[in-house]
Amino acid sequence: MNQVVPRSTRVEPLPPLSAPSLEPAKVSAFAALGLSAPLLKAVASEGYETPTPVQQRCIPHVLEGRDVLGCAQTGTGKTAAFVLPILQRLAAQPKNGRIRALVLAPTRELAAQISERTWAYGKNLGLTNTVIYGGVGQRGQEEALHRKPDILIATPGRLLDLMEQGYVKLDAVEIFVLDEADRMLDMGFIHDVRRIVREVPVKRQTLFFSATMPPAIAELSSRILINPVRIEVVPQATTAEKIEQTVHHVSKRDKRALLEIVLRAEGVHRALVFTRTKHGANKLVEQLDRANIRAAAIHGNKSQGARERALEGFKNGDIPVLIATDIAARGIDVDGITHVVNYDLPEVPEQYVHRIGRTARAGAGGRAIAFCDEEERGLLADIEKVIRQRIPLAERIALPQGVAPQVERPRPPMPDRRPAQRSSSPERPERGRGSPSGQSPSNVPSVNSASTDARSPHPPRARRRRYRGGSRPTGT
Ligand code: AMP
Repeated sequence: MNQVVPRSTRVEPLPPLSAPSLEPAKVSAFAALGLSAPLLKAVASEGYETPTPVQQRCIPHVLEGRDVLGCAQTGTGKTAAFVLPILQRLAAQPKNGRIRALVLAPTRELAAQISERTWAYGKNLGLTNTVIYGGVGQRGQEEALHRKPDILIATPGRLLDLMEQGYVKLDAVEIFVLDEADRMLDMGFIHDVRRIVREVPVKRQTLFFSATMPPAIAELSSRILINPVRIEVVPQATTAEKIEQTVHHVSKRDKRALLEIVLRAEGVHRALVFTRTKHGANKLVEQLDRANIRAAAIHGNKSQGARERALEGFKNGDIPVLIATDIAARGIDVDGITHVVNYDLPEVPEQYVHRIGRTARAGAGGRAIAFCDEEERGLLADIEKVIRQRIPLAERIALPQGVAPQVERPRPPMPDRRPAQRSSSPERPERGRGSPSGQSPSNVPSVNSASTDARSPHPPRARRRRYRGGSRPTGT
């Protein structure tokens, strides 16, 4: 049975940690959380001045040894929220040549990102970490494990492989982190996670993060956490407030032309475009290339080297447009993404929240533009239910070749939810308000129009499919 044995004993807190010895005048907001001088120095050298809300609420509890259940979106500063106090707790005890902290992440990008952050935050403490993930040879990872890291950051599949081969022992783990638990579920890794949890000592501290809390994840959390502190940084599945969201109603065949126009618009400096399939991502790169728009694709079929090159180009500004599938995009930590384009709407509505969270990171603003074709109306309705708001209609864009003007049909009010948040821009037409005649107010061929057919405004949803395992998608 793949059941995790519920833990019945309370974690013994590690000895209390001394407060950093800084003069009052120099005490930063990070120091007030109880972080030690070497960590404050590292944080300062990263240019962080103020802890983000998740850091403010998480760090003191982790330092105390409490279990944490964190409902926090990506881009909220969640990594530092758990890595900083973990480093401090580990540094308070002598090294013992064993893995003392284990961080599980669903994708190799996210795992690599956490490892990179852990090195950066821990550079003044002498603690080491190793990252292991699939999709690359395991030899280098075996060698890194021989060097006895204090912290192991891993994707579930490769970790299990290496455990089965005897390269990894988890019996000295004191702190266990499960990051992006809901993605583990979506990607079919939940059984692997349960198997790994069984190998970690019952007496431990556990930190559990998930952007959304579907029932299976809530159930898992209740089994592996003991009396956790609950930290919800933004309400479940609400979209970051600083993101300006819009939707274009556009036919499938016009999406590419619309994308070119959207990407050429002023203010688009770094854009992340989501497609449903790997093939779709590759095709789009070729088409944009023909239109002289530099783009690269990142998805599970690309080699690790190709993915890293694409990411590096995107980070350093050589490649302004990155086309990604959901799984590959997890863990992309690039600041300054000005636009997220949902070229294909996600089939799992919660995914929309993850996607658009790529922009507006760490408090910056950003724009999220969704393309919705006739078949995707049901998906749009699902997304709007999850984010509890109507996505405002984007301004009309004239496409090069004519598209028959169409009419946006009125849509029923949102059922029993918070009031829809509408765009504050007065010239942006509100959804469901056509001209009095019911015709499009302009004859300009527009992509912001919906079919005039007599079906319900939200026709039966397009097929929904969750990834539920089979071959492991990325790097595990
Ligand atoms: P995360 O949610 O952990 O992926 O972090 C998102 C981004 O915010 C990363 O680029 C971090 O480097 C950055 N970040 C984390 N904490 C802070 C902070 N306190 N101040 C400014 N940036 C931060």
